[in-house]
Amino acid sequence: MRDSVRLGRVAGFPVSAHWSVGVILLLLAWVLAGGVLPQTAPGHSAATYWLGGLVGSFLLLCSLLAHELAHAVVARRAGVEVEGVTLWLFGGVATFRSEAPSPRDDLRIAVAGPLTSLAVALGSGLAWVALDRSPGLDLAAGVTGWLSTINLVLAVFNMVPGAPLDGGRVLRAVLWARTGDRERAAVSATRAGRAMGYALVGLGLVFLLLGDPVGGVWTVLIGWFILAAANAEQEATVTRTLLGAVLVRDVMSSPVVTADPALSVEDLIERQVLSGRHSAYPVVDEDGRVVGLVTLRQLRTVPAQRRDVTRVRDVVLPLSEVATAAPTEPLPGLLPRLTPGSGRRALVLDEDRLVGIVTLADVSRTVEARALLTHPA
Ligand SMILES: [Zn+2]
Repeated sequence: MRDSVRLGRVAGFPVSAHWSVGVILLLLAWVLAGGVLPQTAPGHSAATYWLGGLVGSFLLLCSLLAHELAHAVVARRAGVEVEGVTLWLFGGVATFRSEAPSPRDDLRIAVAGPLTSLAVALGSGLAWVALDRSPGLDLAAGVTGWLSTINLVLAVFNMVPGAPLDGGRVLRAVLWARTGDRERAAVSATRAGRAMGYALVGLGLVFLLLGDPVGGVWTVLIGWFILAAANAEQEATVTRTLLGAVLVRDVMSSPVVTADPALSVEDLIERQVLSGRHSAYPVVDEDGRVVGLVTLRQLRTVPAQRRDVTRVRDVVLPLSEVATAAPTEPLPGLLPRLTPGSGRRALVLDEDRLVGIVTLADVSRTVEARALLTHPA
């Protein structure tokens, strides 16, 4: 996700947070400090309520993280490549680079999250029961009670059967198992997700009319987010279906215009960039070894007066940070790797030799051409 800050690694997965997590942290702390805690544990100062509110809202973020990590751990065990976990305004999201190999794995990955939320709800519920009887710990009891309720709500809400919610993934896995057709199952799940998105937007508008602005706006926002995510997922599924048997080598551009690592940035700009039509050049040394990639954006970071003394090898993006593909790989599998971070392009390597380059534009062109075939009207 764009505008996210890397927090570190948990259980081997990169964890990052979108800036909107700060908003949700304060919002939840405010809900706790301004309403929930004064009701459940009366008689404390405003500062104490805020402290309790911040602790509670931080614990909720931790439980959201636990929910996403559960998806990630089960996915990794099923052989799915996990990109990482990101926390944001509406909770968290675990991103995968590949698909679950079977309906059974799909189902396991989907239910791992809600089951974790349920376990957290149970754990904090037990803590609440214990703390509630201990004198002087009413504030801690208030926080754990709230944490338990919210996690229970999250577990239940996430099981609503519509993609992108976990319940939508469960629906997909069940339909997939029944029909053997993963793509059609996925489209049905996103359709259910869209219907739910519309229903939530409608419900939010009713809340607004009934005089509940906060609940109304929040429900409309969540509905709108689910609608957008379901649409995006449906589009991705249709793309994957259209691309069915297309291989990377069918869409790649070849031969590729490469750059010499020993060349100065000035020479590269004058000899190749200004007269060419490419925005990225794979860097290949004289032995034919692929060193990495140099993009126009990287060239821009070199000040004009330093262009003659800076070599291409000084600014090259190393191969380890560039998306790559094999020529015989099916194209749908490459799509999740064409991220904004990779400049939406991948180098095609055959046994370490550069044979082509694929950009998202190449893929879109193929999708549109294939759509002509399937919808002749
Ligand atoms: Zn989940």
